[in-house]
Amino acid sequence: ALSQKFETILRKLRGQGVLTEANIAEALKEVRLALLEADVNFKVVKDFIERVRVKAVGQEVLQSLTPGHQVVKIVWEELGEMMGKEQAGLKLASVPPTIIMMVGLQGAGKTTTCGKLARWFKNQGRRVLLVAADPRRPAAGDQLSNLGASLGVDVHRADRVDATQRDVVQICREGTERGRDKGYDVVILDTGGRLHIDDELMHELVAVKQAVLPQEVLLVADAMTGQDAVSMAGQFDQQVGLTGVILTKTEGDARGGAVLSIRAVTGKPIKFLGVGEKLDALELFHPDRMASRILGMGDVLTLIEKAQETYSQEQAEVARKTLSGKTLTFDDFRDQIKQVNKLGSMEQILGMLPGGQRLRDMMNGDAMPDKEIGRIVAIIDSMTAQERRDHTLLNGSRKKRIARGSGTSVQEVNRLIKQFLSARKLVKAISGPGGRRNLLQALR
Ligand code: GDP
Ligand code: MG
Repeated sequence: ALSQKFETILRKLRGQGVLTEANIAEALKEVRLALLEADVNFKVVKDFIERVRVKAVGQEVLQSLTPGHQVVKIVWEELGEMMGKEQAGLKLASVPPTIIMMVGLQGAGKTTTCGKLARWFKNQGRRVLLVAADPRRPAAGDQLSNLGASLGVDVHRADRVDATQRDVVQICREGTERGRDKGYDVVILDTGGRLHIDDELMHELVAVKQAVLPQEVLLVADAMTGQDAVSMAGQFDQQVGLTGVILTKTEGDARGGAVLSIRAVTGKPIKFLGVGEKLDALELFHPDRMASRILGMGDVLTLIEKAQETYSQEQAEVARKTLSGKTLTFDDFRDQIKQVNKLGSMEQILGMLPGGQRLRDMMNGDAMPDKEIGRIVAIIDSMTAQERRDHTLLNGSRKKRIARGSGTSVQEVNRLIKQFLSARKLVKAISGPGGRRNLLQALR
């Protein structure tokens, strides 16, 4: 993956005590290749490399950073810049309801993403109305109705199935009027898609847009289609006018070309990423965090945000404290593993942690099965409170006792201690409240 390539290139660079134009050029050549292989638009790559080169060669070396480290910082900043620098939020109407029009080709994930957004707003305490605006495909309406039912969100549908283009506009108008009359905060229009872009579709979308005057027109596009998604964003923007893009299926997109190029090519920000089929698999898109992730720096902030969304404030505090933590104890480790297990697959979570890739490899590469988590918890539970605070107490006879108490073996206890110590090292590396800056420091 791109992040692994970057890790290798930048590790080499960090190792350089003094940077010359020659070794910067050498590194940038590799960065360029990595980006092109990731299917990033070639013109975007060209501009990117040029900006990094100018900055890197002309830089004043900050005392706190090594020269190599500083180039890493420039690459990180420019990657973030390329993707839009700041999180682009959704524009809300000053007088509700906020109207969000979703557009895109069939199969891109429009209907699913409508459900995800509805859930996202609902979690913020907002009342959402979903509008099924694809009357030609009754199944699409059923799909949205099912999503609405599972979320406890209302769905507006046309009662006639033999509807025409004019009806689509009519349905959207009715839906937004109902939203206004009944005091909804947000109305989300799930418009019809086609297999390919055609004039009829574009005319229909333009007509809907003129009729309902949405605050947001969001293109939903499949990240796996790479540069096709980028050119599609350009076409939808020219013909309908977009306020932003939501890229779906990014969890299966090892290359990242669309994520990296859309903003630079079309000028339209990515607002969210779809990261799975489930309704909670939606992430706000943060360019700087994505840049960190691509550089293999992990993404502690996203992890913490996810923890906050899923858990009580108190539990999230545990995660935050542990991650920014002083020294990790076995108690913290157990809490984290339990929590991580609830949050999602171990693999997904570890991928978000700085150095998580390496930790994952240490854990034999696979996502940790539930059974294993159960054993870890049993082992830690079999320790005394004192042992949980101080692993150096764990001598041979204590390990034997713990193994017996937890129904495991001394080898397993030893393995857990090893895992614990590597986790502790990682946590130490990102300690302190400095957030982003600490991520950079973790690279040293
Ligand atoms: P639409 O035709 O644009 O409305 O697309 P749908 O919402 O019906 O989605 C098409 C398929 O893509 C469905 O199987 C969804 O579960 C799947 N899908 C949507 N978003 C994501 C995502 O972020 N990740 C993955 N893996 N699948 C997704
Ligand atoms: Mg659909």
